[in-house]
Amino acid sequence: MTEKAANDLMRITKYGEEVLATRAREVETIDGALRNMVERMRLTMYRANGIGLAAPQVDESIRLFVVDLTLGEDADAFHAFVNPVILEAEGADTDEEGCLSVPGINLGVERHTRLLLRAVDLEGKEFEREYRDFEARVLQHEIDHLDGHVILDRVSPLKRRLAKREIRRLQQNGSW
Ligand code: ZN
Repeated sequence: MTEKAANDLMRITKYGEEVLATRAREVETIDGALRNMVERMRLTMYRANGIGLAAPQVDESIRLFVVDLTLGEDADAFHAFVNPVILEAEGADTDEEGCLSVPGINLGVERHTRLLLRAVDLEGKEFEREYRDFEARVLQHEIDHLDGHVILDRVSPLKRRLAKREIRRLQQNGSW
């Protein structure tokens, strides 16, 4: 990590900010500026102890996210996805999810258990890959961010109301 990069962490947007409720636009050019942003996102994600971070979470409304299920333990586990498209999805499973943009809140969210995904990598190369279970869950969570959805949008109205009440409580006691 260079000193500049270390000082270059990005602010993580929080639930309630418009960018998190907005459908992000396609990435048109994969260039040095985009790769530099991905590097800043990578560092921001690790600093926040996250396993995934989507561009709208750093106030950039473009279709890009990064994931590393190992929290930086394994350098090969870091991946960036540009303009991802779900080609196939099947199965269903509900499990607890958290989100760096909804700190302090965990909600049971139903997700598909298998995905076939097409995306572009940072060299501009298109790829297709199959993902299952936890990895498929994380990717669906991140793609949701690109479509303007957060975990609160994926639960029942009652659970959403309770979560919003908890968020207000966290905001009032200054831990949000
Ligand atoms: Zn999230």
